[in-house]
Amino acid sequence: RWVYMNGKYVKKSEATVSIFDHGFLYGDGVFEGIRVYDGNVFRLREHLERLYESARSILLEIPYSIEELEEAVVKSVRKNRLTNAYIRLVVSRGVGELCLDPTKCSDPRVIIIVDQVKLFPQEMYDKGLEIVTVPTRRNVPDALNPKIKSLNYLNNILVKIEANRAGVGEALMLNSDGYVAEGSGDNVFIVKRGTLYTPPGYVGALDGITRRAIMDLCDRLGYEVKEQPFTRHDVFVADECFLTGTAAEVIAVVNVDGRPIGDAKPGPITRRLLEEFRKLVKVDGVQ
Ligand code: PLP
Repeated sequence: RWVYMNGKYVKKSEATVSIFDHGFLYGDGVFEGIRVYDGNVFRLREHLERLYESARSILLEIPYSIEELEEAVVKSVRKNRLTNAYIRLVVSRGVGELCLDPTKCSDPRVIIIVDQVKLFPQEMYDKGLEIVTVPTRRNVPDALNPKIKSLNYLNNILVKIEANRAGVGEALMLNSDGYVAEGSGDNVFIVKRGTLYTPPGYVGALDGITRRAIMDLCDRLGYEVKEQPFTRHDVFVADECFLTGTAAEVIAVVNVDGRPIGDAKPGPITRRLLEEFRKLVKVDGVQ
């Protein structure tokens, strides 16, 4: 395996960063997770645009153009000879002094890791997930805006810990007003009487690329999607619920906080969308 580090390819075992890197010291940086399906890098441009926006928002200047990074990602995939893979693209503020001041870091680190993908087993897609809601709340946009995919994932890690302690693998986060925001690393949709609902960005969610892909698919398939805030109650009484994300793709949720959702099986719209999504990823991407 080869890791791209600021223009050079380094062996995985030799790819290291400094303990003075502000990504390590303070979580000062941004990242993306991207999938490769049959050699196609799925919606690479959209991921890169989100990366550059996250970086811009925290005044982190990526020392390459979007085209250069696009080429570096594709080359990294080829070099690792993987046709189905997960790409982790990380930009950290770089090495600095033991103080918060980002102006003391002059050399951002740009890292591209290409690795094998660890999916949920197919059984989980067939059966659906049992999840909970957790006490950890999603930041509202006055703090660190959830639209920034920053290296500060502690909030999301707390959600994972709380989910695990409740005996499940995933959970939903509410925002401080009690509206459902998203999962630990996924967006959420519910279906009620044939209409889909997903929280708008201002509720406190990442602008997920998979979420967008699902909204495009719904448009094409004739399903109505409303970006509208909803509560736990709306989830409990929904006909279907599912999560979307680069790693999770589209996965049904069949139980939330002990309440079965619909008939506690992946619903017809969720199954259809997963099927269409799996067709889409094979054709929609950079070769
Ligand atoms: N929400 C959070 C907090 C995430 O980390 C992710 C993963 O990137 C998502 C949602 C889903 O976004 P995407 O579909 O772009 O992977």
